[in-house]
Amino acid sequence: MSEPRLSCCITFDFDAMSSWIGSMKTNNPSMISRGQFGAVAVPRLLKMLAARGIRAGFAIPGHTAYAYPRLVEAIAAGGHEIVHHGWVHENPAAFDEAGERRVLEQGLSALERVVGVRPRGYRSPAWDLSTRSVDLLIEYGFEYDSSCMGHDFHPYYLRTGDSWSLDGPYRFGATTGLVEMPVTWMLDDFPPAEFVLGMNTGLQAPSQMEECWRADFDYAHRDCAGGVFILTMHPQTIGRGRYFLMLERLLDTFAARDGVVFETMGDYVARWKTANPREAWCAAHADLTGAHAITP
Ligand SMILES: [Zn+2]
Repeated sequence: MSEPRLSCCITFDFDAMSSWIGSMKTNNPSMISRGQFGAVAVPRLLKMLAARGIRAGFAIPGHTAYAYPRLVEAIAAGGHEIVHHGWVHENPAAFDEAGERRVLEQGLSALERVVGVRPRGYRSPAWDLSTRSVDLLIEYGFEYDSSCMGHDFHPYYLRTGDSWSLDGPYRFGATTGLVEMPVTWMLDDFPPAEFVLGMNTGLQAPSQMEECWRADFDYAHRDCAGGVFILTMHPQTIGRGRYFLMLERLLDTFAARDGVVFETMGDYVARWKTANPREAWCAAHADLTGAHAITP
């Protein structure tokens, strides 16, 4: 097969109740019920993806896997990739090292128990990382992360040991073998769509999201040959009528473009790593690795 012009990774963070409990710290049953709608939305998303032959990625907290094991089994049975997404949507930086290990392990054991999957990829809840996270992900055998924003439509290798201060230069650490599949809030449904009182206006017209996402897709398709276009969505958000119809339209538009394939992040990473061994990638991207940084 010749190299696709652009790969689309359609990803869903199946947070269910966990994001309201772990990130928003709410005890309000109404707010938590917004997450329960994720369980309504997952079957309709699976049906829509199956009709189009699209294999997607689902980032699933351990908390969600225990709450909805049948849905998580259906996701796996549909050929979709399952990605680690924490335990109860907590910020890894809120813990000491032992605590960060514990939530990583709780997430791993839930996915193992419910669907027998050891995920190759990790996406941190709310895209928060601690300064230890990269080392821990490598130690736990992950092949890639999908929480950082250092590129738009090409993966890169993450560094460990970067340091910074207010009165010194930025110091670049060593480039690791952990691949980053980059994300951006600009290609996430939560900020434009989800209303959270006092925090997020949301409720944008689907036409607005459609215009923005399509424009980024057009740019990636024209100027980033061999790259990857990653959408991050939430079943509880994108699964509601107006946004669901928008997603269907968008996927059909993408599929009609030259050289576009839909694949999972794991499949893309396997191909990308073979084509871009770390040493060769570092040599070709010296600015990104900090090789030319000056120490004052
Ligand atoms: Zn999430």
